[in-house]
Amino acid sequence: MEVNRPDILILGAGILGSATAWHLARRSAGSITVVDLDLAGTFSSSERNAGGCRATWWHPLNAELSWRSLRFYESIADRIQFFQRGYLFLYPRRGWEVALQKRKQYEVLGIPVEYLKPGELRKKLPEFENLKGVAGATFSPRDGLLDPHLLKEYYREGARRLGVHFVDRCYAVGAKTRGAHLEALRVLRHRGRHPLEEASLERIQTLHRVEDPEEWEEERFQAKIFVNCTGSWLPISSRLYARESPVRAVRRQISLFSSHEEDFSDRGMIVDSSGLYFHAEGRHSGLILAGYSNRDEKPGYSFRYDGDPFFDRKVWLRLYRRGGRRHFEAIRHLRGWAGLYAVSPDKTAILGRVPDFENLYELGAATGRGVMQSYALGSLMSELVTGGRFETLDAAPLTGERFAQRRALEESLDI
Ligand SMILES: Cc1cc2nc3c(=O)[nH]c(=O)nc-3n(C[C@H](O)[C@H](O)[C@H](O)COP(=O)(O)OP(=O)(O)OC[C@H]3O[C@@H](n4cnc5c(N)ncnc54)[C@H](O)[C@@H]3O)c2cc1C
Repeated sequence: MEVNRPDILILGAGILGSATAWHLARRSAGSITVVDLDLAGTFSSSERNAGGCRATWWHPLNAELSWRSLRFYESIADRIQFFQRGYLFLYPRRGWEVALQKRKQYEVLGIPVEYLKPGELRKKLPEFENLKGVAGATFSPRDGLLDPHLLKEYYREGARRLGVHFVDRCYAVGAKTRGAHLEALRVLRHRGRHPLEEASLERIQTLHRVEDPEEWEEERFQAKIFVNCTGSWLPISSRLYARESPVRAVRRQISLFSSHEEDFSDRGMIVDSSGLYFHAEGRHSGLILAGYSNRDEKPGYSFRYDGDPFFDRKVWLRLYRRGGRRHFEAIRHLRGWAGLYAVSPDKTAILGRVPDFENLYELGAATGRGVMQSYALGSLMSELVTGGRFETLDAAPLTGERFAQRRALEESLDI
């Protein structure tokens, strides 16, 4: 059996694993290897999201993590296609009251936010003729949309240039621990050349039992430090070292439709008070991407897109109620997809050392913020791993222990 011995082993090469690898390499943290079941991202949320990036979160730590990241994205805007056309966020009465209370918080951080009454909102969004239930809106002009794949590749490229190894088709199935030390991960490497498919998901989840020596060979990764960045798969991967994770995987769906009557391409993300969010895909393409977070969705692993029933009920109906026949009668559903949110009990990321282990860390559960916060989260993780403490921002409240300690960071604005 082959044994690999990097100084640091990162499990999971989604946007958070890739960002962490890059930041660690920039700090010359030693030899770094990142392993993933599929580097192309078949099982990764980082390839299935909406690419939204905004700093207007209600919890100050979430606002700060996004704002720090956003300012970095501004500096590489061309590379990651970061278009700052703003976020237009429509609130029902209660949400509007909270948004007004957050004004000071945004001012202190330097985040520009305009507050709009329904009359002013109409000028920005004339397609929404019916503003029933909307008490007010915020417009944050420096927020915007970026290409998450390009951002992930930016981190990976930078990491590779600094010597980081990314190892494909490796699925961690076991761990060797000694006292407070994780000594090694046992990994199955897929020998096949064909692309891994979503359909193989069920098999992968039961891999521990159905190991097929024809297709999989066993390897071992020994390291001084381990960082688990397996996103929605944390509840499964943390069992390798006998931890019950509070994180849950929840399916989220996105639809793509054409709308040749309305062109939203000069505007950024629009979030309706009904929970629907949408933005133009590309310039003047007539394509619109829309998502809706179904509150009744039960936790679980599914990449099934519900198709027309989802589009008709969750997307089209909400737009039709706002803009009627004139604006949204002729839109045409093209396709869609589903991905997984990794949700913690307070809907905020977990970043920290795993209790009872000296050399094991977890970073994940970023719900709908993993892309927009990846720069700051990866940077903070690299500070903790190399120096044992946070240097640029006190991220200690993000520890996974906060739930047992009743110190949750409730982020109620979870779209
Ligand atoms: C529909 C949708 C819309 C979203 N919209 C936005 C948005 O607009 N803005 C935003 O910032 N965020 C958004 N998100 C959230 C964002 O996509 C995630 O927070 C982010 O991608 C999480 O990154 P990650 O690296 O933690 O996990 P992932 O990208 O899921 O990566 C985890 C990796 O771990 C690997 N892995 C798991 N288990 C193992 C194992 N045992 N062995 C080896 N490898 C393993 C997987 O193959 C995967 O590649 C959205 C998510 C969805 C689903």
